[in-house]
Amino acid sequence: MKKIAVIGTGLSALSLAYHLPALDITFFEKSWRPGGRISTRKHEQYAFDHGAHYLKLDHGVIGLNEFLKKIDAIKILKGQFCSNISQNSPIEDKEVIVGKDGNETIPIKIHKSLHYPTHFSKQITNIESHNNEYFLIAADEKFGPYDYVFCSMPYEQSKKLLDQFIDYSDIPEIEFDSIWTVMIAFNKRLGAPFQFGYHLTPEISFLMNQNFKHEFFNEECWVVNMRADWTKEYYNIENYVLEDYVVNQMKKSFQSKADAVFKKSHRWRYSYTKKSLRDQNSKRFIESIDQRLYAFGDWCEGPSMQDAWLSGKKLAQHFSEMRLKN
Ligand SMILES: Cc1cc2nc3c(=O)[nH]c(=O)nc-3n(C[C@H](O)[C@H](O)[C@H](O)COP(=O)(O)OP(=O)(O)OC[C@H]3O[C@@H](n4cnc5c(N)ncnc54)[C@H](O)[C@@H]3O)c2cc1C
Repeated sequence: MKKIAVIGTGLSALSLAYHLPALDITFFEKSWRPGGRISTRKHEQYAFDHGAHYLKLDHGVIGLNEFLKKIDAIKILKGQFCSNISQNSPIEDKEVIVGKDGNETIPIKIHKSLHYPTHFSKQITNIESHNNEYFLIAADEKFGPYDYVFCSMPYEQSKKLLDQFIDYSDIPEIEFDSIWTVMIAFNKRLGAPFQFGYHLTPEISFLMNQNFKHEFFNEECWVVNMRADWTKEYYNIENYVLEDYVVNQMKKSFQSKADAVFKKSHRWRYSYTKKSLRDQNSKRFIESIDQRLYAFGDWCEGPSMQDAWLSGKKLAQHFSEMRLKN
């Protein structure tokens, strides 16, 4: 049986493995957990979905919700949503899909259902080729041989890894936004009339209350996303400066005397895809001339979880068809 290495265990990699027929697949993941940008940070007694916030109920990807329900990975949440807080847009009920016990439940349960061996905490730094076979290098370890290698990392990272094998001159440039996120626990209710919404201030693009997702703490917890252009300008801001700034902005916005009892920030270098392969009417994955090395991920399709899932699904279909022909 042909041996396949999949680099990354984000939603696109999990989708690829799920949509391929049973094959000899091994995952390599630089983190200690699966999920990539779908991440639930647990600090003290708090839990924050500080990567992807939710999956849209009407995302339109056939079969995805049914599969996630079948493996007991998700719940549907109804919350009060405001599309533009600073302009006093009406607050409406909105249903979204989230992980059953934090969004990390989604990749964890998919990964578990696949039963493929996985090397966690292995950052692949190089790929070597000998006699039409590929070897993966992580620190001083070498893994292989593999017949096929699939890289599901953000575009620029996979480009670095595959540059020696693929001519990128004809491939359109992909653009990503970076985003600062801030996780805060307040000791009192802020009195916000919504649970999630856009544009609290000119700097804060989105915020989501975590209590109605996780339902197990006394304090009021929020995840706040800064705007992409603000993040660009303040890319190197000190964490504590950013955290204090956001706490003050929130207290001012809600005229609250609550104090922050926990705060932490994280900068996502590759957050949302700004310009995808789909936007540029290009083929939805990148492959080497020998059709053994592939790069894919949300950046092939768009900025969201459903795009990551679609990317893995489309590449799996292409790969299965190609193998049938050969
Ligand atoms: C702050 C933020 C908020 C978001 N909000 C939403 C939202 O509300 N709704 C929504 O639908 N989407 C949202 N998204 C987008 C969504 O999270 C992504 O589109 C999706 O998770 C991307 O999946 P992926 O598999 O393509 O990439 P990733 O999740 O980035 O997966 C890549 C994987 O490769 C691993 N990796 C990278 N380099 C190496 C290496 N050298 N060796 C081994 N492993 C490696 C990484 O650790 C990671 O696990 C958000 C993203 C961010 C950052």
